[in-house]
Amino acid sequence: MATDPVCKMLVSEKTAKWTTEYKGRKYYFCAPGCKKAFEENPEKYLKEIEEEKE
Ligand SMILES: [Zn+2]
Repeated sequence: MATDPVCKMLVSEKTAKWTTEYKGRKYYFCAPGCKKAFEENPEKYLKEIEEEKE
């Protein structure tokens, strides 16, 4: 499972309909709205993910 970086929902890589690639990494989304939000401001969401790991 992958985590939707926008809403933090778990998304299956196999069934995900909305994906995007950013800096060589693939991201999965639960809905087109999440994909759009990420593409508009990817650094914001990636920063949030990094902060959660610590
Ligand atoms: Zn989502």
